[in-house]
Amino acid sequence: MEETGRCTDGHAPSEYSQDHKPILQQEEIVGHAVRAGYLYSGVADVAALTGDTAYFHALSRIWENMAGRKLYITGGIGSRAQGEGFGPDYELNNHTAYCETCAAIANVYWNHRMFLATGDSKYEDVLERALYNGVISGVSLSGDRFFYDNPLESMGQHARQAWFGCACCPGNVTRFMASVPHYMYATQKNDVFVNLYVQSTAEIETQKNQLEIRQETDYPWDGKISLTIEPKKKQTFALRLRIPGWAQNRPVPTDLYHYVGEGKGFTLTVNGQETDYRMENGYAVVRRKWNKGDRVELNLPMEVRQVEANPQVLDDRGKAAIERGPIVYCIEDKDQPDSTVFNKFIPIGTPMASVCKPETLNGIVGLTGMAKALSRNGDVTDVPFHAIPYSVWNNRGNSQMAVWIPTAPSYARPEPLPTIASKARTLMIQAPIQKDAPESAATEAWAWGVNDQWEPKRSSDTSKPYHYWWLRNGTEETLAYEFDQPYAVSGVEVYWLDFDHYDGNFRVPASWKLFYKDGDSWKEVEATTPYTVDKDRYNRLDFKPVTTTGLKIAAQLQRGESGGVIEWKVIPAK
Ligand SMILES: [Zn+2]
Repeated sequence: MEETGRCTDGHAPSEYSQDHKPILQQEEIVGHAVRAGYLYSGVADVAALTGDTAYFHALSRIWENMAGRKLYITGGIGSRAQGEGFGPDYELNNHTAYCETCAAIANVYWNHRMFLATGDSKYEDVLERALYNGVISGVSLSGDRFFYDNPLESMGQHARQAWFGCACCPGNVTRFMASVPHYMYATQKNDVFVNLYVQSTAEIETQKNQLEIRQETDYPWDGKISLTIEPKKKQTFALRLRIPGWAQNRPVPTDLYHYVGEGKGFTLTVNGQETDYRMENGYAVVRRKWNKGDRVELNLPMEVRQVEANPQVLDDRGKAAIERGPIVYCIEDKDQPDSTVFNKFIPIGTPMASVCKPETLNGIVGLTGMAKALSRNGDVTDVPFHAIPYSVWNNRGNSQMAVWIPTAPSYARPEPLPTIASKARTLMIQAPIQKDAPESAATEAWAWGVNDQWEPKRSSDTSKPYHYWWLRNGTEETLAYEFDQPYAVSGVEVYWLDFDHYDGNFRVPASWKLFYKDGDSWKEVEATTPYTVDKDRYNRLDFKPVTTTGLKIAAQLQRGESGGVIEWKVIPAK
């Protein structure tokens, strides 16, 4: 950085690239999520190699902010599509979660380095959570389709895609998978840390010995882990077996998530005998003289648990997620008898059973129990539900899916009736961003999210799909409905978007107009009420009835500000 405050490559320092202030002064994780994970991985390496405690303290603060306020239950990070980055504390929207596959990978890299610098298993807890959930959800079971973003809820609009042009995630996944063995073990002098449980054989070199460790296990489907220790020479050393946070009643090492109720403990034997161990930094430490063929049996409690989020996470209020071991579950419409997801709630304490399904989704342990379904008239009925690991969702075509499931009827949503708007096709006609481009360069694009019938709670409610005019500011922007047939209509209700973003704020427009389709041209409606631009409510416009096949909003954005629409309803003429 030069004294002018501009970086040497000429770009202005910004939160986007985490150079808004020196790392030593940073308290909060902000900006582009993948860049953040990589940057702090590098800082952790520098801190470890130089023994620089100031860097490490800064990193610890930033990590606490990430793990305590900005970490998805899947281990994903980065809630916002805009800027592919972090939102404010506790903004962990599920439907619109960005959670780039690369960001979950970067989270593994960073946490692995934090572990190496400290020997604390809390970092491995975050690593394992990302590994089994938010990272591998990025790849299809066929291995050739990829998610860029990994939402925790879907109406069926999401799908993994084949190799794509901006191919950061697919290449990153292949690089990452090859690195997984590195995260299993670590050594310190003659001691050995076991961080991950995977059926495997490892050759390990310590300061004064060599050993082979064979793991026999069906983890993560089963909690029984058998380790055979084969030291080249008999030696006294400590075997540090990671007892995952989830097996100690602690889904994450912060107060961001907690289990409902108490869980069972783990058991540990050596050569069939109960053994002395002490807990240290999340590890069961067994220090003894190890001989060839010594057998360690660790049994972790694979119970089905409900998880609740810190109440400050608005989008998870009144909901619970379901976990078993390190695996986060979801419900997908295909497994439900009524083929829907959002009409259901699963009260706290609902009994659930795990079911081995070797034929399903390459072999999974599924979960089942009785949920409640809410109908439009308010009736509640009992329906069986089936849950699958989140990482394998969307492998049987597009589907409704949810990780966070309501626990009470007030948070469930009965299937809404179709409306003129919900049946319409949504599009925008956009001039190129360059000011001097010809009008013919205007493009027509699909828009999304304004007619999904999810009711916004406020103008900054980005928890469900919405439309935004990304990177536009101060311009006139459009959004149109193409109806499935002509309708007589006499009004609209528009819920404007309004929230802060470091790459430009989204504000209600300065003004707007509404047009209807008349043959091939658009004509302005004859409004009988004023055009309003209020925040946090629907802006209703009434007009002289017209029969038309489409409506178009033309919004004049405020100077220097962007904008968007969360929801747009169409009112039929009486
Ligand atoms: Zn990526």
